[in-house]
Amino acid sequence: MSKNKHLPEDREASANGTTHPESKKTQQAAEKATTYAASVTAPETVVVDKPPPKPNYPLYRVQPGERISLGDIDPNASENYRKKKEVMAELEKHRQRIRKLQERLYAENQRSLLIVLQAMDTGGKDGTIKHVFREINPQGCQVWSFKVPSDEEASHDFLWRYHHRVPQRGMITIFNRAHYEDVLVVRVHDLVKEDVWRQRYHIINEFEQMLTLSNITVLKFFLHISKDEQKRRLESRLENPDKQWKFSKNDIKERRLWDEYQQAFEDAISNCSTAYAPWYVVPANKKWYRNLVVARTIADTLEAINPQYPNGEKGLKNIVIPD
Ligand code: AMP
Ligand code: MG
Repeated sequence: MSKNKHLPEDREASANGTTHPESKKTQQAAEKATTYAASVTAPETVVVDKPPPKPNYPLYRVQPGERISLGDIDPNASENYRKKKEVMAELEKHRQRIRKLQERLYAENQRSLLIVLQAMDTGGKDGTIKHVFREINPQGCQVWSFKVPSDEEASHDFLWRYHHRVPQRGMITIFNRAHYEDVLVVRVHDLVKEDVWRQRYHIINEFEQMLTLSNITVLKFFLHISKDEQKRRLESRLENPDKQWKFSKNDIKERRLWDEYQQAFEDAISNCSTAYAPWYVVPANKKWYRNLVVARTIADTLEAINPQYPNGEKGLKNIVIPD
C-alpha cells in the first residue's frame, strides 16, 4: 500500500494494517470510559445485589447487536399489573427517587443525563414527560422538542441542532424526538438518499459514545404502541375539543406509512443500541405501565450513577455568621 502523505501518523499506521502505539493507548482510554458508562446503563447490576429473575429486570433493554422485531414485542404488556391503581404508589416512589437523585446530580455538577424519547405519533412522549418528571426541580431539567428543521438547522450537518442542546454538567435533558428523526422521518419520506441516512447509524453511535466520554449518560426509550391504539388516540383527539390542537391532518398521512415507520424504528433501534447508550422498547398501550417502566429505569440509572453532594469548603466549622 502506498503511503498517504495527507494522513496524520497514527491514521497512516492503521491504514497500513499496523497499530501505532499511541492509537492503542487512545483506544484503551476510550474503552475504560465506555465500560463505566455500560455499568450505569445496566443499573440492575448496581442497584440490586442479584437482579430478581421475575419480572425479568432489564426486560425491555435491547442488547448490543440484537436484531429486534417490533411485531414480536407486545405493546399491551404490563408484567403482572392489571390496573392503573396497582402501580400508582410505585410510580410515586420512583418519582421521588428521581427528585432526590436529581438534586444530588445538580449539586455534584460533574455528570449529566440525556433522555431520548421517540415514538409513533400519539405514542405518548408528551404524557411521559408530564407524568414521570412531575416532581423534579425545573432548574435542573430541560426539555427540547425537535420539529421540522429550520432553514438554519437544515443548512448544517444533521447532528448540529441536537449537539447544541445536550445537557450541561449536573443537568437532566429530555429530547422529545431527537437525532433519530434523521433516520426515521427522513428515511420514510426519502428526504435524503439511502447512502446518506444509512451511514448515520454509525455517526449516531460515535456521537453518543463521544457524549458518554464527556460524562453524559444516554438513555433512549421507544414508546411502543399498536396501530389500533393509535387509531383510538387519534379519534379521541378529534372528538375532544380540548385535544384537537394536538391533531394534524398530516397525522393521517403518516399513519398510512405505519409499516415503513416500524421498519425504520426496528433498524434504528437494532443498529444503535449499544452498551453505553441502550435503547429500551417500552410497551406503551397502557399509559400507566409506560410511565412506570420509564420512571423505574431512570431512577435506577440515576442511582447507579450515584451522584454525590460535594464537600463544603475547608474550615467551615469555625465560621460564625455576623449579626
Ligand atoms: P410534533 O412532534 O407532533 O409537533 O411534530 C413534529 C414533526 O416534525 C413530526 O412530524 C416530525 O416527523 C418532524 N420532524 C422532526 N425532526 C425532523 C427532521 N429532522 N426532519 C424532518 N422532519 C422532522
Ligand atoms: Mg404530532
